Amino acid sequence: MAWEIVVGIETHAQLLTHSKIFSGASTAFGAEPNTQACAVDIALPGVLPVLNAQAVELAVRLGIAVGGKISRKSIFARKNYFYPDLPKGYQISQYEIPVVQGGSLKIVLPEGEKTIRLTRAHLEEDAGKSLHEDFQGMTGIDLNRAGTPLLEIVTEPDMRGAKEAVAYARALHSLVRWIGICDGNMQEGSFRCDANVSVRKVGSNELGTRCEIKNLNSFLFMEQAIVFEASRQIEVLESGGKIQQETRLFDTEIGETRAMRSKEDAQDYRYFPDPDLLPLVISEKEINRIGSELPEGPESVRKRFVDEYHFSMEMAFVLTLDRVRAEHFDAFWKQLLELTANVDPIARVQAANFAMMEIGAAMGRLGIAVEEILPDRLAVLIARVLDNTISHRIAKEVFSAMLAGEGAPDEIIEKRGLKQISDSGAIGKIVDEVLAANAKQVEDYRSGKEKAFNSLVGQVMKRSQGKANPAQVNEILRRKLKAT
Ligand code: ADP
Ligand code: MG
Repeated sequence: MAWEIVVGIETHAQLLTHSKIFSGASTAFGAEPNTQACAVDIALPGVLPVLNAQAVELAVRLGIAVGGKISRKSIFARKNYFYPDLPKGYQISQYEIPVVQGGSLKIVLPEGEKTIRLTRAHLEEDAGKSLHEDFQGMTGIDLNRAGTPLLEIVTEPDMRGAKEAVAYARALHSLVRWIGICDGNMQEGSFRCDANVSVRKVGSNELGTRCEIKNLNSFLFMEQAIVFEASRQIEVLESGGKIQQETRLFDTEIGETRAMRSKEDAQDYRYFPDPDLLPLVISEKEINRIGSELPEGPESVRKRFVDEYHFSMEMAFVLTLDRVRAEHFDAFWKQLLELTANVDPIARVQAANFAMMEIGAAMGRLGIAVEEILPDRLAVLIARVLDNTISHRIAKEVFSAMLAGEGAPDEIIEKRGLKQISDSGAIGKIVDEVLAANAKQVEDYRSGKEKAFNSLVGQVMKRSQGKANPAQVNEILRRKLKAT
């Protein structure tokens, strides 16, 4: 029997504000416990929350970037529950009317793009943290995180399996960094996902009962957790059981999810509008201003890279995971187009693939950031490969010299005498020398050993210090072997 896996994701993205959502305390990570919690955060009687305008602006940025509807008027509500790290006894969140409604995000899969619908995104405050290490028989409470602004972004149950869920989480992770609303640091908890998972028979239109896996803080864990959870549910159903709707935790040590609380234990949060806060009203003018300050988004850049630059969707996806990288690449490519207007687009893309591999390797090796490599220098380097001034191999040498600070590519090529030899007379001379010195290999080639030919090419390249045009070497060598 074939099963289909259905996933919906809730993400908590910590917004990049300096101070908390309802107080002036700092949001910086890593301070001594309880040094960044003011009277509002620790809920002293008589204090009042004041909304941080920057948090609202960042939420609106996301709403516009995903094509959602920005609520002109939204409401803050109290979500009531008791927990030691929640001194007020309620969390301020948005319930009935969130700041962002709808919208969508495109994910890239091997078979193409897929649109994931968003349900909503709402503003809320984070709770504090319970500390269990370093305390014997006690729990420590750190309220530094209490009141940190979060944007909770909720999808429709549109993903079919772990791969799609991870592709969505990656796309959202890339977007929030792209538009500068969240640093995306998953280790520090700035971007955490809950995955709602259910299964149903293929062809069924009804959703199965779901389980929610809380606080997945890496893409790998998300994938493992969903794969495990789906097969657990399938096993239960196939052996005649029923799925209990419940909240589960992923145990990373054993790679399994386990029950945390069932729906029956679920609290009634007794949501009601927070009387301390006015409705959040956002003017059309503000929305337009925020929209006008947004950079071109990754989906649009990706589309340009595919439609205008002739890259594959997957390559374009990799190039647009990060905004700095994408902008750098875009600048590089525009230069390259100008320098190589008459070159076949496919050859240009191939040369660029090489460049990107080199860049990636060099960055890894030397810890160099992509923006340290001037895009126009990179463009000249690749143009010199495309106009046959240098070979790929020599391009690597020039690239290393560029990184070592030896200057612009043309300078390096000139100074080091790296220009490719494309003069057929000069190459012919080297070929003659190699043929004369390698009678045995010439013999082998003539008796049908193709390997001998490659060895002769290698000798010519070596004798020319890598500078002979490889295509010409091949051609001249074949011709001369035939003639003699
Ligand atoms: P809650 O707030 O109680 O977690 P929601 O209705 O807001 O419940 O749903 C939360 C998430 O669960 C959403 O992302 C939604 O798409 C997803 N979801 C709802 N039903 C299912 C289901 N049957 N299978 C998988 N995901 C689901
Ligand atoms: Mg939920």
